[in-house]
Amino acid sequence: MSENILKTLNESQVEAVRHIDGAMLILAGAGSGKTKTITTRVAYLISIGIDPASILTLTFTNKAAREMYSRAVSLLGNKAIYPPLLCTFHKFGLLFLKFHISLLNRKNNFVIIDSDDKKKIIKNIEKELTSSMVSAEISRYKNSLITPEVAKSAAEQKVYKQIADIYEKYENYLLENNLVDFDDLLLLPYKILEQNHDLAYKISNKYQYIMVDEYQDTNELQYKLLQKLCCNHQNLCVVGDDDQSIYGWRGAAIKNILCFSEQFENTKVIKLEENYRSTDTILKHANLLIEHNRDRLGKTLKGTRCEGKSVRVYESMDENEETRKLISDIKSLISQGVSPKDIAILFRVNALSRSLEEGFNKAGLGYNLVGGIKFYERSEIKDLIAYFRVITNANDNFSFKRIINKPKRGIGKTTIDKLDLESIEQKKSIYNIINDSTPAELSGIVGQKNARTLKVFLASVMDLQDILKDSKMRFLDLFEETFDFKEQYHGIPDGYDKIANIDEFYGYIRDFFIQNPDAKLDEFLANIALESEQDNLDNDGVSMMSIHASKGLEYKHIFIIGMEEGFFPLIGDGSDIEEERRLGYVAFTRAIDELTVSYVHSRFYKGRRTDLQKSRFLTESGLIEGSLNIEKTAAYKNGDLIKHKIFGMGRVIGVQRVGKELKLTINFGGSKKDILSSFVEKI
Ligand code: ATP
Ligand code: MG
Repeated sequence: MSENILKTLNESQVEAVRHIDGAMLILAGAGSGKTKTITTRVAYLISIGIDPASILTLTFTNKAAREMYSRAVSLLGNKAIYPPLLCTFHKFGLLFLKFHISLLNRKNNFVIIDSDDKKKIIKNIEKELTSSMVSAEISRYKNSLITPEVAKSAAEQKVYKQIADIYEKYENYLLENNLVDFDDLLLLPYKILEQNHDLAYKISNKYQYIMVDEYQDTNELQYKLLQKLCCNHQNLCVVGDDDQSIYGWRGAAIKNILCFSEQFENTKVIKLEENYRSTDTILKHANLLIEHNRDRLGKTLKGTRCEGKSVRVYESMDENEETRKLISDIKSLISQGVSPKDIAILFRVNALSRSLEEGFNKAGLGYNLVGGIKFYERSEIKDLIAYFRVITNANDNFSFKRIINKPKRGIGKTTIDKLDLESIEQKKSIYNIINDSTPAELSGIVGQKNARTLKVFLASVMDLQDILKDSKMRFLDLFEETFDFKEQYHGIPDGYDKIANIDEFYGYIRDFFIQNPDAKLDEFLANIALESEQDNLDNDGVSMMSIHASKGLEYKHIFIIGMEEGFFPLIGDGSDIEEERRLGYVAFTRAIDELTVSYVHSRFYKGRRTDLQKSRFLTESGLIEGSLNIEKTAAYKNGDLIKHKIFGMGRVIGVQRVGKELKLTINFGGSKKDILSSFVEKI
């Protein structure tokens, strides 16, 4: 049986699968079978008798994890005694924390907050700075293991001092309310392992074989966590592609993959050089595009399929014409028998999905928007989730405040502020204040009428908590009965939709409990918190998603819209043209049989119509003729570290265009020199 598993692999893939002990790096281009190799390796290890419980496979998205899992299990003919753990980094972090968060003196009924909650909490702490900027900074601190104290002492400018201050308050808030954010799902496990060597040793012993897909997108923290998990062995197998590194903006450290062989002793390196996914034509254009990047290892990737159809380039006046063309194409594909599941539309900027959705709705075509407007981010669903969070975690003030007046029960902002203040003074959650105070004491804080309302409200919550212990289904019935949650939406403009969403949510939660009869409500909550980051509820329609979300996936027919300067490549603060090009490479290489790219002359965006120029990627990839108006050397910016053969390392302090080249002013340890960019190497 173990040899059977290997029969659809090529020689190098087999070599990788058969390698059992010791570190291994599989570095290869798109569609070369990296994911196939590691899923096969999972099955192979099990087939030769390795305990499935000692295999841990990590990846980035739930969708990818689900696909890999089903591939591995089906290779085994569904014969595994029990399934190996194959999940996202965050899910692994969550499972770990459920068992071990007590080592940080925290209870394991913590609640995971999403990015929207995070911004709200930040906004409540400080209104002056934009919450998304602060939120990103806090994320960056956490992923670089910078504590609030360090951030505070390192901050020189006023704004950084302010951010560090918010960071500290934010962390305290999470702690008081027993909340964890997404970054904590990686950071807290690392902290625990760092502080408890015996545990690190034990966990490393448990997971003897660790594999990571899409390693190019791991950051410093993920690397450190992996190091802890491997403290007892070196059996870490990572696969990745430097050309597909697309999370630089989120702190992914490409050096993780470049330095892997130095960080892990005796690393076996395997290269896969054949692409099994795309037609030669698609591959040719993808390769032409990525060749414009300087900062790459430069792998070769040969096609194995046929030449295939040429890539289509659509030119339209505006987004409406673009959508019409796409819909007409897709309708004709479907009428030829193509399944909508084999079709995907990709875009760089999420907002472009709006006109598509409108067009699809009008045409009556089903679609599945991945990672766009998230089901769980709709306000009525967030309210329900907040209710369930309070029911499972009495410390969660954040959720308590969200639901205290939903449906309306006459509790206004002043009352909430008073409760908040009391909560800070008494160092107790609002829930516990209402519970522990006598009616008279509570009236003293919020007035008699409000005190009565709050007591009644809390009694209902507590009744439901009791019922939940006996029967989850009965709890769900009584929940709606007690709070009349849907009633509030009768007769309001989009009430019908909201009620339908609520019903869908109730259906979903019931289904979850039918599938997982032993699961608790907090497990359901954790599950949706993880899922909501990338996924939406799946259906059978055409998929629409951002290029980031398409990583690792493949579709027979790919349409890429918004191929215009400013949209793709996205140009603006912090965007990096090489990373944009890698995104282009990822997008092109998702296509199996047919690729269509589309650009428009103008788009309606952020409230106005803007004239646009076609993307440089169209010329760079050889899809349209034309002189390259922007050269590949545009990759340098101030602050970049470079290396020169004679002068050594230096930092770019000025960039100037000279003909087709860039002239860089570089500071080499104090001495400034002007050098053409083709004479230096970026590091
Ligand atoms: P990406 O870089 O996009 O994540 P990948 O390197 O992980 O791609 P896979 O998704 O594993 O590539 O494989 C791409 C396609 O090629 C899949 O459909 C897979 O089944 C197929 N494939 C991989 N290896 C082989 C092989 N040896 N023979 C035939 N088909 C293969
Ligand atoms: Mg892959």
